[in-house]
Amino acid sequence: MRNYESTKRILVTGGAGFLGSHLCDRLLAAGHEVVCADNLFTGSKRNIAHLLAHPRFEFLRHDITFPLFIEVDEIWNLACPASPIHYQHDPVQTTKTSVHGAINMLGLAKRLDCRIFQASTSEVYGDPQVHPQPESYWGHVNSIGPRSCYDEGKRCAETLFFDYHRQHGLDIKVARIFNTYGPRMHPNDGRVVSNFIVQALKNEAITIYGEGQQTRSFCYVDDLLDGFLKLMATPKGFTGPVNLGNPGEFTIRELAEKVIALVGSRSQLVFMPLPADDPTQRKPDISRAREALDWSPGIDLETGLRSTISYFDALLAGREIPTPVHAP
Ligand code: NAD
Ligand code: UDP
Repeated sequence: MRNYESTKRILVTGGAGFLGSHLCDRLLAAGHEVVCADNLFTGSKRNIAHLLAHPRFEFLRHDITFPLFIEVDEIWNLACPASPIHYQHDPVQTTKTSVHGAINMLGLAKRLDCRIFQASTSEVYGDPQVHPQPESYWGHVNSIGPRSCYDEGKRCAETLFFDYHRQHGLDIKVARIFNTYGPRMHPNDGRVVSNFIVQALKNEAITIYGEGQQTRSFCYVDDLLDGFLKLMATPKGFTGPVNLGNPGEFTIRELAEKVIALVGSRSQLVFMPLPADDPTQRKPDISRAREALDWSPGIDLETGLRSTISYFDALLAGREIPTPVHAP
């Protein structure tokens, strides 16, 4: 009954999470059918509440460490906790999600002979000694530390994706995502942008780990989603990996000061111990994304923070959160 020429049935794993729910919005707006598979570990039905009655949307409560039998035309594999406090809560499950999850999703893609996207991460570069980080950099990663379950899990997932591509001719697209923020991050997510905004809105102490001199590059979610869709639309044979992130680089202290100023908060800075293996600097080299995808982010940190602050403000005040409108 579908128009097979222009629309697809698409599986999004981790579709009830921060990035996954925005992706579901975009795919539905483009006319596709979306099956969202999520075990709701860090995701929330709130993120997809506006989609539950949509005739082309279906939610499956499913853990991707177990096989999934389903018929789809395309797979986006986003399932995995992304915040350090969440992925360190049950590190064995984190590795299983990345590795067994990738094996299950790649097996599904092989049977269906369909295109599959992997949400990889800048964490594959570890605590980088090359700055900014190009895709050709092999990284500086601790294999036995508290972040290893995530970093090594994601690295092994990349290995599996490229071996399925070489061995079975699978059509893969691998994005290395750098720190991304925006509406629908979990308020207790533990990541720096959500922590600082929630603390500033409540006029509570802003918790800076270390001296706040470590750097990150922050990409607004809408920009990232443009990059996702451009990568997935590249011809078969273009595999990536492609860095997707905003090359603007800020110290964590600068971020804290910006958030305080934008919120107009009375919060004070407090300094707490730096977590083990916390990368000292991170900034994407996005030359490949510019050349191959004609993509670069357009939303500056201040604009993106304003929109994220409005979201958390409404969430904390219990007001109804407007559904973001996206370009089709
Ligand atoms: P998130 O925690 O909001 O979303 C992850 C989703 O995956 C959640 O809905 C969670 O319930 C689900 N999930 C976790 N384990 C699962 C399992 N075993 N089976 C099924 N569902 C499971 O995080 P996010 O920021 O939306 O991240 C999405 C993806 O992007 C992740 O793979 C993450 O590693 C990657 N990524 C994100 C960022 C970022 O800055 N947001 C950066 C690099 C990579
Ligand atoms: N961070 C911080 N205070 C917080 C949360 C995080 O100073 O309340 C720091 C953290 O130590 C890291 C940076 O902010 O240096 C980014 O942390 P996040 O967890 O967002 O992501 P990461 O890039 O480390 O995975």
